Amino acid sequence: MDHTNRSRAEAWLRYADDLRLGPFYHDRVGRPITESAPTETVPLSAAASAPYRAHDPAPAAKPPAAFVPQPAGPSLFEERIEGDTLERIRADIGPNCTRCKLHKSRTNIVFGVGNPKAQLVFVGEGPGHDEDVQGEPFVGRAGKLLTQMIEAMGLRREDVYICNVVKCRPPENRLPERDEIATCSPYLLRQLGVIRPKVICCLGACAAQTLLETNQGISRFRGEWFDWRGSKLIATYHPAYLLRNPNAKGEVWKDLQKVMSVLGLQPKRR
Ligand code: URA
Repeated sequence: MDHTNRSRAEAWLRYADDLRLGPFYHDRVGRPITESAPTETVPLSAAASAPYRAHDPAPAAKPPAAFVPQPAGPSLFEERIEGDTLERIRADIGPNCTRCKLHKSRTNIVFGVGNPKAQLVFVGEGPGHDEDVQGEPFVGRAGKLLTQMIEAMGLRREDVYICNVVKCRPPENRLPERDEIATCSPYLLRQLGVIRPKVICCLGACAAQTLLETNQGISRFRGEWFDWRGSKLIATYHPAYLLRNPNAKGEVWKDLQKVMSVLGLQPKRR
């Protein structure tokens, strides 16, 4: 298919996706990667219609990467704001957002923190108790581990940008629900659109499934590179998962080394 026809087909299929017609014409499990796989497969799927799975599965269970998610382009209905800034996004969310039910139990909206020109953005799931209290992402136990990971990469927390899929704490630290993700993730997309980092590192299944618009388990594509709207995207296990499963730290370090190699970073000297 030539470039013009391909662009037209992509636009129509995104439109159909936006109308939630996708399930009728496409198996969203992804496409097999085979030697003979066509290179012009049109990426399909819609974040809002993707079911979300529970927390990260065991790293040992990584199956052969027979299927991978296809990052879709921006939805035709996605807001594109000329001259968008992080300040504007924060202002658009507002100090008292009530767009989803998470507002009922939150203390603070946790917008995001770090270098607005960061080459590397970490995306987590949603604030926990400490983040809710302090209004800053990844400041609790998992956050301390993330900070150690960042420093092991030869960076400081202030060098990177850190944010979440949902900006308000889900009660009892449950997973964010589909409607909450659908409501809040446009702000994440805008944050990433403003920062335009070289690398996006998804921490855990929620961030990865949201950005890649897939319901596949993270073990299927952890450590693989995706082209996401001009950034390179990689998914790794969430630091909270590492606190429960320290044996998985080696896998995560391998993923972070891939990030370091793309960014030309040397590990911190001990
Ligand atoms: N877990 C997350 O996903 N995000 C945070 O900000 C803290 C813990």
